[in-house]
Amino acid sequence: MTTPHTPDPHELAALRERYRLERERRVRPDGPAQYRDADAEFGYYAADPYTEGPVERATLHDLVDVAVIGGGFGGILTGARLRQQGVARVRIVEKGGDFGGTWYWNRYPGVHCDVESHVYLPMLDETGYVPRWKYAPGDEIRRHAVRIARRFDLYADALFSTGVTGLTWDEASETWLVSTDRGDDFRAAYVVSATGTLTDPKLPGIPGVEDFAGHTFHTSRWDYAYTGGTPEGGMTRLADKRVGIVGTGATGIQAIPMLAEDAGHLYVFQRTPSTVDERANRRTAPGDVGAGRAGWARERRDNFLRIVSGESAEQDLVADRWTTSAGLLEKLLPSFRRHGDRQTFEAAYEAADAAKMTELRARVDRCVTDPETAERLKPWYRYACKRPTFSDLYYPAFNRDNVTLVDTADTHGIERVTEDGVVVGGTAYALDCLIFATGFNVGTSGIHSGRLPVRGRGGVHLLDRWRRQGPRTLHGFTSNGFPNLIQLGTLQNASSVNFTHILDEQAVHAAALVAAAEADDALIEPSPASEDSWLAVLAEGAPDHEWFHAECTPGYYNREGRGRPNGPIAYPHGAVAFHQLLQEWREKSLTEVLRSRTVPRS
Ligand code: NDP
Repeated sequence: MTTPHTPDPHELAALRERYRLERERRVRPDGPAQYRDADAEFGYYAADPYTEGPVERATLHDLVDVAVIGGGFGGILTGARLRQQGVARVRIVEKGGDFGGTWYWNRYPGVHCDVESHVYLPMLDETGYVPRWKYAPGDEIRRHAVRIARRFDLYADALFSTGVTGLTWDEASETWLVSTDRGDDFRAAYVVSATGTLTDPKLPGIPGVEDFAGHTFHTSRWDYAYTGGTPEGGMTRLADKRVGIVGTGATGIQAIPMLAEDAGHLYVFQRTPSTVDERANRRTAPGDVGAGRAGWARERRDNFLRIVSGESAEQDLVADRWTTSAGLLEKLLPSFRRHGDRQTFEAAYEAADAAKMTELRARVDRCVTDPETAERLKPWYRYACKRPTFSDLYYPAFNRDNVTLVDTADTHGIERVTEDGVVVGGTAYALDCLIFATGFNVGTSGIHSGRLPVRGRGGVHLLDRWRRQGPRTLHGFTSNGFPNLIQLGTLQNASSVNFTHILDEQAVHAAALVAAAEADDALIEPSPASEDSWLAVLAEGAPDHEWFHAECTPGYYNREGRGRPNGPIAYPHGAVAFHQLLQEWREKSLTEVLRSRTVPRS
């Protein structure tokens, strides 16, 4: 390994200026409005290609203990943790045709999790499963989701190919009325919302998309009937096709090398290059990770979370590019800046960032033979501005004769789609197939989207209340006026790159709330004072992200260049501290959210 070059003040000033210019080149006046949803006339981009039509079934009007919205890892883990608390009727309602969430939908070629499988796959201790690769392919992860669902008998009451369309609190019975797009109207004593944050595919609002006469789809709805093959490749039907792919985020980076192998010709329409670090995926044996010892997976997962949250750890068990770059990603957490004053910290941080980005740009030069192509693939922004990606196959794909990189930065993306293909900078590219690897709307699914109205006590709409007062929760989970409704997600809660770990802690918490309410025949509902106290905790240590994101190249991290929303959005001291806080609260103060029922639950 080469020693990273430490930049001097002149180099840092030059870099700052270069980053500023690159950002200016990319910012669009329409910001997030540049995208369109995959619905209405574009609804076919969101249709489910993996399940043959929805299964016919009778509509449901019964009563369950807990309705869980979403059958991804958040919903499955909630189901599993509820079962461990002895809850009998858990109904998971899922839009897809099976469990898996993001791993149900994302089956594009090359799909892998880029967080180590031994920390990413939840409940390994409980299921006895040991992943076979350091970074597992998507199908192995999806099958693990199904494994947990089977183990905890979550299929029994599950509803697939079904979307929840409304939640209404019924004061008379003190239950939630849950309505769905399949005509169900059932009741649930509790509702857990586990709808994920990056779920609804988005498309660029490029003029003429509807005119394209070739084949088109979004990466989260891969059309293997058209391409042939599987997520492992072998897309033989593309051999004579001119394929265009728009987008070079974490998805594009994984799909592009596979398309390059199989397509007649591949055009990669890039707007902002990702950082693409070393992957070094490899087969692993159970002994490599200490599997077999009780609690090995929890220990490894906790160790990873400590390191990426800036907490001390005696050793780095995972030892990959996430853990070695952790300081650059989570640097705004107070845990990282405990030592030294802010100025010293930020100067050291900027120097480390510059060294890392210089190293990543040098990697492009090493891997790509054509210097002009290499230049276009280099990222010019700070490391934490965009989600880092990892691949050993991505850059070499551009050394192939059948791959063309088309830089769309100067035109803010593809300018126009025509019947025959796309136009960039006045040049037309004729295509048979156009694939959108353009990502997902952020936080627009579920109860925070406005598309799933939630009416609490007195018919008050959750989002109306929040529009007036700002989001109000206790720990992100519960809100006054909305009894027995538990929200999973990052809002006023915690986050981490290993999001299944966060979800599992949230599931444990949700199940503990339900168990306590059941034991006391009570409702779960925080007081306005509890919400105020939580908001004060969030505001007190809130890191000042704004200066950082304001200087970043646009993307979904900073609302396409507009900066982060005002106000605290997550617990400021990191996930490790948050989990500790929750555990102590459960032990000492959980009863603060229990309210007497007026209608006994039985
Ligand atoms: P992203 O939002 O990260 O990327 C979208 C891409 O589309 C960007 O490169 C964007 O360019 C480009 N784009 C958008 N509009 C246009 C346009 N008009 N013309 C040209 N290019 C355009 O989506 P992904 O699906 O790649 O990733 C989303 C998230 O999903 C990741 O950040 C990650 O959290 C998760 N993920 C995780 C994986 C894992 O292994 N754990 C794997 C894959 C995804 P620009 O950057 O300029 O906006």
